[in-house]
Amino acid sequence: MKIPFCRVSCEGNETAYVREVLASGWLTTGSKSLEFERRFAGVVQARHAVAVNSCTAALHLALEAIGVKPGDEVFVPTMTFTASAEVVRYMNAHPVFLDVEYGTCLLTPELLREAIQKHPSAKTLIVVHYGGQAAPMFGQDGKMGILDLCHQHGIRIVEDAAHAFPAKIGGSMVGAIGDATCFSFYANKTITTGEGGMLTTNDEAIARRAGTMRLHGIDRVVWDRFISEKPSWEYDVVAPGYKYNMPDINAAIGLAQLERAWDFQRERLRCAKYYLKALAGMTGLDLPVSHSAIEDHAWHLFPVVLKPGSGIGRNQCVELLAERGIGTSVHYKPLHRMSYYRDTYRLKSEDYPNAERIWQGCFSLPIFPTLTDDELEYICAVLGGILEAGG
Ligand SMILES: *Cc1c(COP(=O)(O)O)cnc(C)c1O
Repeated sequence: MKIPFCRVSCEGNETAYVREVLASGWLTTGSKSLEFERRFAGVVQARHAVAVNSCTAALHLALEAIGVKPGDEVFVPTMTFTASAEVVRYMNAHPVFLDVEYGTCLLTPELLREAIQKHPSAKTLIVVHYGGQAAPMFGQDGKMGILDLCHQHGIRIVEDAAHAFPAKIGGSMVGAIGDATCFSFYANKTITTGEGGMLTTNDEAIARRAGTMRLHGIDRVVWDRFISEKPSWEYDVVAPGYKYNMPDINAAIGLAQLERAWDFQRERLRCAKYYLKALAGMTGLDLPVSHSAIEDHAWHLFPVVLKPGSGIGRNQCVELLAERGIGTSVHYKPLHRMSYYRDTYRLKSEDYPNAERIWQGCFSLPIFPTLTDDELEYICAVLGGILEAGG
């Protein structure tokens, strides 16, 4: 068998909607992007959605809109993709890297509380909903959640939800919780537009600022310049903005993907349930931990961790799986190990014990809507064989 790490599903209305855009003659940001924003906001139950050309752009716009200043400190978990931290540098601010919980790879209120004590001047947090599971935003059993802690200390929250669509926590959709939430529609994410992203927020000021800054700081959107009564040359530039708008070609793909987002989520959940059951008894392997209902996860990833006593190294295991036709990936080499962040901020691995433990043994198994039960059975059998031979 040959099973890729990821397989995109574009068998819905993608082609039809893209054809409509091509036939319309309007290929850049226009009616399809507006419709995509409106529908996406509806799904995550946020008041505003701003379509952009990547999640990285959305994160950058979010930090800009909440007013992060040069020299500011911004909390970022170390177990994430570099985009979560590079946007802090775009603002000439400084990331303060946080360790994560073993098992979930998520930030916890306890870890955040410690960090606040050490860095009382940090007033922004980028929280990552790793793998598709929302971080513990709300308190439980009398304990404070990340949201309460941030409110108490005047910390603004930007959520990196690149993995977490559609996902829920405490009855709320991810996308309508923090000050701004950023989604990715990169090719291997839970829904895709090829390249693309979305910023959602309930804060009108953030939505307005991000909407202006995504297109050169122009106070009227291009589409409006062409459809409204006012002459199209009449616009003002209120800031040196960016070129982050989402073209209608991409939005058309997004609209078709959005129609099937819950179907995709159900199929990913099916895969997760299969793995959780089939791999449950496997010694040497730690499975992803869920603090909330597994139905609420987006299941973008199915990350596992080889335990030190498993008798086989992660790289060797990944190679053996590849030899048997199974694609995997590693999420993530933590950012404190990346030379730029490590050298710039003199980071030491000892300060991130949980992330280190995860990094030594972590890899991610294939999980996507069209992964069949036969393929899942094969993956589990091969992995079981490798672990038995190694242990
Ligand atoms: C993919 C990803 C991003 C960046 O998404 P783009 O749309 O490619 O900019 C940011 N954060 C995390 C955690 C990601 O996985």
